[in-house]
Order: sequence, then structure tokens, then C-alpha cells
Amino acid sequence: MDFEKYFMGRIRSVIDRYKIKGCIAMALSGGKDSMAAFHALTNFKFKLIPFYIDLGIEGYSEKCEKYAKEIATMLGYELHVVRLKDYGIDLSKEKKKCSVCGTAKRYLMNKFAFENGCNYIATGHNLSDAITFAFNNLASVNILNFRGMKPVLEGNENVRMVARFKPLFYLKDDECMKYVEMNKLPYCNEKCPYQKEAPTVELKKWIHELEEKRNGIMLNFAKSFEKIEERMEKKQEIRQCSICGYPSYGKICKFCRLREKHAKI
Ligand code: SF4
Ligand code: ZN
Repeated sequence: MDFEKYFMGRIRSVIDRYKIKGCIAMALSGGKDSMAAFHALTNFKFKLIPFYIDLGIEGYSEKCEKYAKEIATMLGYELHVVRLKDYGIDLSKEKKKCSVCGTAKRYLMNKFAFENGCNYIATGHNLSDAITFAFNNLASVNILNFRGMKPVLEGNENVRMVARFKPLFYLKDDECMKYVEMNKLPYCNEKCPYQKEAPTVELKKWIHELEEKRNGIMLNFAKSFEKIEERMEKKQEIRQCSICGYPSYGKICKFCRLREKHAKI
């Protein structure tokens, strides 16, 4: 089958199964995957609002922003930019940078989508990311975090939580790369300087080696994890953060706690 058709088919299967429609806030990181997702989604009848979160990582965030702007212009959209420093948070002062970065990104993506009246937030997470994330949680006995193993996560209006949509959920790293190259899409080829701290790099390598020996094993993992997630009892109740009103598992959300901490640094 023609590669482009196969690629779009994988995305269409998610859109049809979850009946995705309406306005989508497209999160652009500047990397290849979100560029591919954005470009592919312009083939469907969605209202797309592309945005970029500037994490303030010196020598890296500016480059990613430049590429995000470039693709938005190329596809005829205006890019919205949200800056972490406007919230008083400085990643460079954090020890566990990736963990804080994750919290900040999730929070700011949701806030942006909510404030812009979007039905979904689309991200560039692909099959390789999903499997790596799941194995990483298994490796750290982090079963409660074993969430998100689905291409679409429901929102909850009561707690200002916008639904999440991962168009590339059934597509691997190399397939996303191929799509980007075929369509000559701009993307930032550099890695985040903090990535060496990410424990998932080795895991991802191992998973791809396994896939090379047993083609299709990643897709099967994803399907199994999706089933496990569906059967898992979600005991943790989501409520509204008492400070900002966005979703939280505790009285005060992680992001507001971060802001409080950084105000004192
Ligand atoms: Fe954030 Fe870590 Fe990824 Fe860098 S490597 S963008 S700090 S999660
Ligand atoms: Zn909060």
C-alpha cells in the first residue's frame, strides 16, 4: 500500500473510532512528530489552533519555536506561544527537570485549550512514545501512572479538563520520520539538552530492537496496554485545584505547587 495512504489510514482509524470533531488545539514542540501530526490533521475538517510552549530551555527552546512558527506559516496558520517564564517557573533551577517539565507541559496545554474553547488537545505522541512510557511505568512499579494508554483520553468539563487526542498513536518513530521527509516538513533535529536525564532513552532503544526482530510487537503491546487501562479501576478522583480551578488529584494541583515553590527560590 502507498505509504501516505497507510499513514493517513492509521490516523483516520482513531478519528473514526472516537468520533473526533470540532476545534483542536495542536501542540507543536518543534520536533518531527508534532509537525507530522499537524500536517496530517490539515487533511481533515477540523478547526486547528496551533500553539507552542516555550519552556525557556536556553539554546534549545528558541530553535524549536522557530520551526513551529515555520510550519504554521507554511500551512497558513498563526502560531500561539505560551511561555513558562510568565508563570515564574525556571526549569534550570529544578533537579528533576523532565518530571517538572512534564507537569508544566500538561498543565499549560490544558489551560491553553480550555481558554480557547477547544474540544481536544492534539499532541505528537506516537506508538514508540506510548510503549516506552508504559514500560517505564512498569519498570518503576508506577501502576497508578499507568494511564493514558489510549489514543484518546476523555475530558471533564466540571474540572476544566480538555480531552487529549494522539493522532499518531498507531505509528512508529521511523514512520513519522518518513512522513516528515516525504512532505519536506521543517523540524528541529536537535535534542533537548536535558534529555540525557530522561530514563526512557535506553528503554526506547530496546523496544525498537525488539520490534526489528518481531515486526508488529509494538502494536500488539499498545493494544494490550489499552485493554489493561480500560479494565483498571480508576480510584483516584479528579477535582478542581483550589487555587487555579484546573484539574488536580489533590487540593492544590502540581503546577500551582511548582509556582509557589519557584516564587520562593
Ligand atoms: Fe522536557 Fe526532559 Fe523532554 Fe527536555 S528532555 S523537553 S526537559 S521532558
Ligand atoms: Zn492549580
